[in-house]
Amino acid sequence: MKLTYKFKNSEAEIGSIDKKEYLDPEKVYIYLKNGDRIKLEDGDKVKENELVRVSYNNRKTYSPISGTCHVTDNCVEITNDHKKNETKEKESLKSFDDIDRNKFMKLLHDVGDSVNNHELADYFEDNYKLILVNGCDIEPYQFNIRAIIKDHAEEICETVGLISKIFNVDVDFVLTSSDPNLKKVSSEADRYNGVKVTSLNEGFPYTLDSLLKDKLYPQYSDKDVLILDPLDIYKIYKALKYQLPVTERYVTVSYADKDRVYVVKTKYGVSLKEILSDILPDDPSNHYIYLNNFMRKTICTNLDLMVVADQVRAVFIVDNKGIDPIDCIKCGKCVQICPIDINPMASPLSGDCIRCGLCNFVCPSNINLLEENKKEHV
Ligand code: SF4
Ligand code: SF4
Repeated sequence: MKLTYKFKNSEAEIGSIDKKEYLDPEKVYIYLKNGDRIKLEDGDKVKENELVRVSYNNRKTYSPISGTCHVTDNCVEITNDHKKNETKEKESLKSFDDIDRNKFMKLLHDVGDSVNNHELADYFEDNYKLILVNGCDIEPYQFNIRAIIKDHAEEICETVGLISKIFNVDVDFVLTSSDPNLKKVSSEADRYNGVKVTSLNEGFPYTLDSLLKDKLYPQYSDKDVLILDPLDIYKIYKALKYQLPVTERYVTVSYADKDRVYVVKTKYGVSLKEILSDILPDDPSNHYIYLNNFMRKTICTNLDLMVVADQVRAVFIVDNKGIDPIDCIKCGKCVQICPIDINPMASPLSGDCIRCGLCNFVCPSNINLLEENKKEHV
């Protein structure tokens, strides 16, 4: 089978996106790195939302479930007791009206939720000319950002309204024009000064942070613009309103040959194997599992170790029979589609390559043009 699956660009066109919830997993895994401090010992009980780990740069990780901990040198494995024994929520703020810059920073630091391995609050230490909220799912078959917005549009807009007010900065909330959330987000955002919504007609690769910024705001340098996504904003909302972390995550699961897409709402730290075993009709090892970037052909070779984390947005499942690359047929499609006009067949690949993977996507010979050994087939 060749990978001739054509991605469709809107929820309406796909027509079969199923939302699944996988919020009561058997286990979660919190992997440890050098410098991490943990608050629990082997055999300890932990409650949902209880602090588990503090990293060297003060990022905090909280337990997504309640259960019993097995602590090793590199992991805290929590076995679910399926009891709903959340740590007591601190009193929620009635409104954001009395939050100023200092209180915002304190509440965010106290919870210590993170983005890209940095504490979220650290991003607000600098001054920006613009905050760009990238509400676009990155690649065309991903729908998890849409799912977050659909569940939390009001909270996200209220939070960007507050950020705009207390940091005196414009916020642009960008969604693709095919996003069914567009109308709702536009009407919510209208309530807040300094917040505007931009509808993006182009799809991938302009949905990538760097290209999006350069396309919409070429006049600003990278350091002038803080780019966040709706999950980051929702983390801020929960930290301010309830002094709690967000332990839920959304992962898109797509089948290449079945025109079928699931958006799975699950918990941080759940094994991908556990989720897929529940969804797939047979053994996950009968399939190739691509992680996040199907276009870059990043095959996940260690499914046993893969857990849901912020960087895990999507898995793409392909039957593992007959997708090996064959020799280049010199069709030229890869060259035609490259958005920055370099030759994807060159070896080594130009340093200008943005690794969007579009050349991989269109190649009828299934050659991974981003791999060093591609020359065997080109
Ligand atoms: S060579 Fe391929 S991955 Fe690199 S920019 Fe061009 S199309 Fe994208
Ligand atoms: S590498 Fe693939 S897309 Fe490029 S010319 Fe060869 S067969 Fe066509």
